[in-house]
Formats: sequence, structure tokens, C-alpha cells
Amino acid sequence: MKHCVVIGGGVVGLTTAWALLERGHAVTLVERGGAVAQGASRANGGQLSYRYVSPLADAGVPQKALRWLLDPDGPLRFKPEARWAQWSWLIAFLRNCRGPVNRRATERLLALGAYSQAAFARLQAEAALGDSIALRAPGKLVVYRQPAEFARVAARVRAQDGGVEQALSPRDCVALEPALADTEAALAGGIFTPGEAVADCHAFCQALFARLQAHPRFTGRLDAQADGFLAGPGGAVAGVRTPAGEVPADAVVLAAGLHSRALAAGVGVALPLYPLKGYSLTAPIAGGHRPPEVSVTDFEKKILYARIGNELRVAAMVDLVGDDTRLDTGRLASLQRSVRATFPHAADYDRATPWAGLRPATPGGAPILGACGVPGLWLNVGHGALGFTFSFATADIVAELVSGRASPLPLDGLSL
Ligand SMILES: Cc1cc2nc3c(=O)[nH]c(=O)nc-3n(C[C@H](O)[C@H](O)[C@H](O)COP(=O)(O)OP(=O)(O)OC[C@H]3O[C@@H](n4cnc5c(N)ncnc54)[C@H](O)[C@@H]3O)c2cc1C
Repeated sequence: MKHCVVIGGGVVGLTTAWALLERGHAVTLVERGGAVAQGASRANGGQLSYRYVSPLADAGVPQKALRWLLDPDGPLRFKPEARWAQWSWLIAFLRNCRGPVNRRATERLLALGAYSQAAFARLQAEAALGDSIALRAPGKLVVYRQPAEFARVAARVRAQDGGVEQALSPRDCVALEPALADTEAALAGGIFTPGEAVADCHAFCQALFARLQAHPRFTGRLDAQADGFLAGPGGAVAGVRTPAGEVPADAVVLAAGLHSRALAAGVGVALPLYPLKGYSLTAPIAGGHRPPEVSVTDFEKKILYARIGNELRVAAMVDLVGDDTRLDTGRLASLQRSVRATFPHAADYDRATPWAGLRPATPGGAPILGACGVPGLWLNVGHGALGFTFSFATADIVAELVSGRASPLPLDGLSL
């Protein structure tokens, strides 16, 4: 048994703590906030999107990005910063915007997604988190507005003989999801993937934390910011420093989302993470509303819709504006316009709660897992747009590595 410290009480840190306990280790989780899941895991899109994993970096994205920047309601914003971190990330991102690179990354992420789905089922069976996490598996429908874009994707789907995805006409999209009736005329078609799920990430984190706290080998420390690492023999990391004291450890797992950058830099490890700011709206659903039951992604507008319990969660936008979680009223008004036009009767948008979060993104869209060259320090960072989806797999992988065993999946493209 090792004593492990996990830094970060977001969905990645919490699932990592669970996976380490399951393997017989003792775990102390340090979270700088007064509660868990107050960062990117707070009000994200809630989609468990195991099969729709293609990274943002793809051929044609730089050209599309220019169009998006000129559109006042476009999904992208860019504010140049006088910081090398932004520019070096952008250069690396552009290098990843090539078809073959995207296809290789997508294959890896598909394997990670499939593993994660199975790992989540195991966690559900063992942790029994109950109904509060609002888990449903209604499948996911990605709708396309541009015929050329849809034709390209539909041809790929139709070529996959026996694949699970289905290419649907606009009429079939409405038959599957009647809430799309008001938008049918604007649609070119949709791709439906059965089995994809949605859940409340924040409620999941709270329920898992409660379960962890009941475990005899777990200590949860809130309001405990890790300020740096304890130095062990030979330059190893031997624990963490917090204002309340030192926490010695045999292994430290860095799972502090975007803030992992600064901590890793303290021991000479450069993490290629940059915040991709996104927004969400959480709107109550009342008697007369007709929310989508299927989880929907509006491809060109880059907006996700998921019914989570009695609320509609809408998540959108990719703003490269630095570490800034302020709510921009212009962006929220733009999101409200798009949402009201697409699903006018789905929820009470006047009473929607807005939120902004920072996706801890790597240039290629894949998380960074495992060793980092500093003995005793392990990484579980960089989950970007799909951290809820991938967290179950990445927790298992990192816990296996910390236990001295091989990763259950090849780490090619998933390590530093
Ligand atoms: C708008 C939006 C929509 C999204 N939609 C989806 C979706 O539909 N599906 C999906 O799978 N993913 C989605 N994501 C992505 C997902 O939310 C993130 O990838 C995931 O939450 C990252 O989890 P994390 O634990 O790494 O980071 P976080 O949730 O940010 O957690 C990091 C934690 O570390 C703590 N911390 C930081 N520094 C320290 C320190 N020094 N000491 C101690 N604690 C520290 C922070 O307080 C925080 O609690 C979305 C993200 C956004 C922004």
C-alpha cells in the first residue's frame, strides 16, 4: 500500500482518488476550494460522449476559425495575450490541424472513450451513487446545418458497415427528437449514436466525494491549496506543501486541471495546457416545456444540449481569452439568441443560470497521463472538452501506473 496525495477536487481528482483506493492505497485529496467541483467540473455540458471524441484540431479548422471570428454570434473568440503560453499553445494547435494527425488522435480517444464507458459502469456498480447524478443514456444526435459538411460525415458513417452510428435525414432527426421540429427546415441531417449518456457532473462529484469520505483509507482536505512539493532523495517528489502543513506521500497525482501548469512548472515540468473558456446555461423545465430528450450537439454552432433532471443544460463556445472566468454579457446574449431559435419551447430561458468555465486543453485534444520525469509525481491533466467523459478511464490508467503495473491502454499520444 502506498500513501498517495491527489491534488485537485474536480472530476479528474475525485475519480483518481477512487481508483487508487480500489487498488488498496491510502489517499489524501487536497482541494484549494471550500467544496469539490468548483472549477471546470461545476456546470459543464454533462455529456458522456464516449464515441464522439474527435479533437478540435483538424484540417480546415484554421480557415473555419477565421469565419467564426468574423461572426458576432460565432463559437470562437480570440484575445491576443502578451504571454508566450498562449502563442506556443496556438502554434502547437495549428500543427495538429492536419487530417492524418486528427485521425490518429481520434482513434486513441475512441479507445479511451470505450474504456471509460466500461470503467464508469464498474464505478457505478461499486460506488452506487444513486439517482442524484441524473444519469440517462438517451443517445446523442449531432445535427448539421451545412449540406456539404453533413454529406462528408454521412458518407463516412454509411461506409462503416455494421457501425453503431446512423445518418439521419432532417425528417428522421425530428422523428427521433420531436423538440427539433422548429429547426427542421434549417437542418441538413444528423448523426445519431445510441448509448451515449448524460449526467450531472457536479452532482456526480459531490456524491463521489461523500462516498470517498466514508472510506477508512481516505482523507479529504478542503481549503487546502497545494503550494509546492516536498523534495525527496534524488530530486523525487515526496509530498505536498499546504498552508496548513506538509502532507508526505509515496506518490503525488497532479489533477488540478488548468492550475496543474503552475505546480508542475515548480519542478521544471512544462505542461502544454491552455484555457479554452466555455459558457453554459442551466434553464428550468416546467410543465408546458418540450425539452430534447436525446442529447443534441449543434455541429456548426458548437452548442450542446442535455436534459439533466428537470433542467436543460446548454454548453457552448471556445474563447481563447486567458485565465478569465468572468461572464461576458455579449457572449451570453449571443448564446441565448441561438438557443431560443433552435429549441424555442424547451425550457424557461428567462430564468437560466449562466456559468463560465475553463477547459484545461492540450493542443492535440488528448489528456496527459502518467510519469513526467520527476520520480514520485504523476500526471492526470489536460482533459479539455471531454474531462467528464474520459475521467473514469484516465483515473484507472493513472492508478495502475502508480501501483507499478502497465497501463491498460497504450500511452502513445497520451503522455508528456
Ligand atoms: C462549457 C464547458 C462544457 C463542457 N462540457 C463537457 C461535456 O459535456 N462532457 C465532458 O466530458 N466534458 C465537458 N467539459 C470539460 C470538463 O468539464 C473538464 O474537462 C473537466 O471538468 C476537467 O476536470 P479537472 O478535474 O481536470 O479540472 P477542474 O474541474 O477544474 O478541477 C481542478 C480542481 O483543482 C483545484 N486546484 C487547483 N489548483 C489547486 C492547488 N494548487 N491545490 C489544490 N487544489 C487545486 C481546483 O480548485 C479545482 O477544484 C466542459 C467544459 C466546459 C468549460
